Amino acid sequence: MKLEEIKLEIDSCQTSTDLENTRIKYLGRSGLINAEFSKIKTAADPKAFGLELNKLKNDVENLITEKSQTVESIINDKQKSGLPAVALAKVGHLHPLTATERQLNEVFRKLGFSIYHSPEIVTDEYNFERLNVPSNHPARDMQDSIYIKEPQVLLRTQTSTIESYLLANHQPPFRAAFPGSVYRNEKVNRSNHFIFHQYQAVVVEKGVTMKDLIGTMDLMFKTLYGPEVVVRYRCKYYPEVEPGVGPDMQCFKCHGAGCPLCKYAGWIEMGGSGMIHPNVLKKANIDPKIYQGFAFGMGLDRWTMAQNNISDIRTLMGGNLAYKPNK
Ligand SMILES: [Zn+2]
Repeated sequence: MKLEEIKLEIDSCQTSTDLENTRIKYLGRSGLINAEFSKIKTAADPKAFGLELNKLKNDVENLITEKSQTVESIINDKQKSGLPAVALAKVGHLHPLTATERQLNEVFRKLGFSIYHSPEIVTDEYNFERLNVPSNHPARDMQDSIYIKEPQVLLRTQTSTIESYLLANHQPPFRAAFPGSVYRNEKVNRSNHFIFHQYQAVVVEKGVTMKDLIGTMDLMFKTLYGPEVVVRYRCKYYPEVEPGVGPDMQCFKCHGAGCPLCKYAGWIEMGGSGMIHPNVLKKANIDPKIYQGFAFGMGLDRWTMAQNNISDIRTLMGGNLAYKPNK
């Protein structure tokens, strides 16, 4: 499948219906590009194959978006000249956070993960107790929770809460990934908000080790930022994992030299991860002697803001539909 040939086909579209049919042919769920993705496992070099295919997909998407504007102007001209025109569906754009979430969902689907969901209003048990944070644990002070009904019902403060549901309701082995809105009682300003967004991936299987965790994170960063990305891993403490690890990515703007984005550190903290604590598995009736697992989570807001040149976090959750991020 060559981009040049697809481009000719897109160029030849005269109406929005033609263009939509071409879009479905290549980008639809059962389209030709998705069919190519299914060959990734048998490719000689799956990583290069995947990167190339992702590039093709993005290029085709861009060509179709570009063409849709031309088709629209043809229709407007026809309308002005009194000729019948085919109505074109209004072209909008995804919310930047939705785009980031979908981009990550795609990466994890290809790695064999299911996408999982759970409620946003939760009990103390799922938000804290099952994650190895009992009522007297100091980690609770770090998360200023928003309660619906104190002390038992609250808005989830982290995507690890979704992990509690996953572990409680499914028998291993499983791999699941999930985006989620989370809530904390933060004062709202340019860089903090009481709603923010995280992404988490969880694996529970027999014989899973730290090597699998690091390998999965490496692959995720490389898929998102290209094979050149440099990631380092530091020991961190999180109650729900043991040991805990924090991945830092070398700043993609300054490549380690220091810039305002990385606050002159050269590195950007990308989240937290670790091997699931045996207590967390036991609370879900999973025997830690048989099954092991890892989990990692990352914040999506700052990352989405950096990608889209958005400097104020309030913009992400604001109601101004006319707002478009600077490209
Ligand atoms: Zn930097």
